[in-house]
Amino acid sequence: SVVVPVPESTAELAFEGALRPRSLSEFVGQTKVRAQLELLLQAAALQSRTPDHILLAGPPGLGKTTLAMIVAHESDRPLRMSSGPAIQHAGDLAALLSSLVPGEVLFIDEIHRMARSAEEMLYLAMEDFRIDIMVGKGAGATSIPLDLAPFTLVGATTRSGLLPNPLRDRFGFTAHLEFYSDDELAHVISRASRLLELEIDSESLGEIAGRSRGTPRIANRLLRRVRDFSLVNGREGLEAVQAALKLYDVDDLGLDRLDRAVLSTIIQQFGGGPVGLGTLAASVGEEAETIESVAEPFLVRMGLISRTPRGRVATRKAWEHLGIAQRESALF
Ligand code: ADP
Repeated sequence: SVVVPVPESTAELAFEGALRPRSLSEFVGQTKVRAQLELLLQAAALQSRTPDHILLAGPPGLGKTTLAMIVAHESDRPLRMSSGPAIQHAGDLAALLSSLVPGEVLFIDEIHRMARSAEEMLYLAMEDFRIDIMVGKGAGATSIPLDLAPFTLVGATTRSGLLPNPLRDRFGFTAHLEFYSDDELAHVISRASRLLELEIDSESLGEIAGRSRGTPRIANRLLRRVRDFSLVNGREGLEAVQAALKLYDVDDLGLDRLDRAVLSTIIQQFGGGPVGLGTLAASVGEEAETIESVAEPFLVRMGLISRTPRGRVATRKAWEHLGIAQRESALF
């Protein structure tokens, strides 16, 4: 049998947490990054110091938060979690940094969205474990130096290009997470089905993997949708997987609604492009940042769009995928 539903036990919210690998050895794929992180942690342990600051860059759902948790777990340190949008003033960061316990791992998700004033405070904190707190305003303003407990910053960003150089340079190690291969995703899904006590045949496994947009988070979510589908409809096997994915608008390349909206907008409204990001975002009705960090990396990797100096262009493969005949003049 394919996906044999078991009695529901995991709440939707706890779902991701339950499937999160807790150690580097459980973490699937990203072999190089894993080896690099392992070395970094071991070297720090041998010298009894806090591990270097780590920057994790890559599209959503590839394991940045998971790796931050693993860094804390493997080095046996407490973990504090925050995010760029939550740090809107230097004071927010000062409060956070001054409350860290020695050796703590501080995870800042979406670090590129932190306030500029906080960024500057972070430079000194990362380098010297020290901050200067400004007191007062204007001519009477003074800065009070404050020593911090040593900590390891793990920053995550979907847009490493948006980080100012001085911040980027202060990370001892930057990992660029890549989209996962279908084999790696199959591994992620089989691990998840084991944890969820689902049975799944290899054909179905491969089908879900191939439609997961190179992304473990999506693989796990699709597995759950397929499981729901089987549970409700009493259908099993590849046929059930395909029907479930169709129901959830996942196409045979794994593109979701946003991906397809981007492609069809470039093709139908802009004759295949080139079209600038801002114009494209306005036409799709999404934020430029979402298009650039969520949809675009995968579309580029799949060879469906290309980025040119004049804007985004839909490739021949994109026209074919949407089943739209390409005009001669638009060929390139
Ligand atoms: P990000 O922070 O990059 O958006 P997360 O670390 O939150 O991504 O990962 C999302 C989910 O995907 C996790 O809950 C985890 O279950 C799964 N996941 C991510 N990377 C891996 C991996 N390498 N191996 C297994 N599962 C993974």
